[in-house]
Amino acid sequence: MVLFGPPGAGKGTQAQLLKNQLEVAHISSGDLFRHHLGQGTPLGLKAKDYMTKGELVPDEVTIDIILDKVMSVPDDEGFILDGFPRNPKQAQELETALAGRSRNLDKVVHIDVSEPELLRRLGNRFVCRTCQAPNTILEDKDIASNKCGQCGGELYQRDDDNLEAVKRRIEVYNEETMPLLRFYRERGVLVDIPGDNTVEEVNKQVIAALGLSPCVAAGQ
Ligand code: ADP
Repeated sequence: MVLFGPPGAGKGTQAQLLKNQLEVAHISSGDLFRHHLGQGTPLGLKAKDYMTKGELVPDEVTIDIILDKVMSVPDDEGFILDGFPRNPKQAQELETALAGRSRNLDKVVHIDVSEPELLRRLGNRFVCRTCQAPNTILEDKDIASNKCGQCGGELYQRDDDNLEAVKRRIEVYNEETMPLLRFYRERGVLVDIPGDNTVEEVNKQVIAALGLSPCVAAGQ
């Protein structure tokens, strides 16, 4: 499956829940780039400027590395893609690569959130250095004393969660990524979910969209 939606929609949060509930691989292009950035690898250095400005990292750099990860998932196991594909070329290449293995996407889950809500959420978002889980900290709280709700790790604010980069990321999403909604609607795999609800409520709806029993969301 693909988790689809604008920056701040909650794709990362839902992916963390789903990978435990469904026991499948979670492939996040953003996490992968941030990992390379942290390690100072050639890929990280190439991606850095694009990420800081909120632009897409070029396809020549992105597509092969993500498709390698997807193709390394055994054919009888599932995966959650988060942050990829983000433009028509990436979607086309993903489709071709999966078809080469006689696989396809079961669902593309579109988490839809209004722009004012995205801006509010991204301003309060802090990421765990250890497990990458997004955490929300309200303005009046002291960041240093907050630890990751999932694993207790240290939290930090992403370089691209400043207002200028956030606005650009939303623009890029509207211009380059939104056209994929039509691409996947035409293939009959798109499901729209309102993302303004609580994390738990969105999770229940994603589980239902995947055709699974509500017990999965309840952890039973
Ligand atoms: P968000 O969804 O919150 O914007 P991500 O963590 O998915 O954040 O991505 C962070 C940045 O990594 C993007 O702004 C972009 O620079 C880069 N990136 C991630 N995925 C892709 C992709 N599929 N194609 C190009 N660039 C990407």
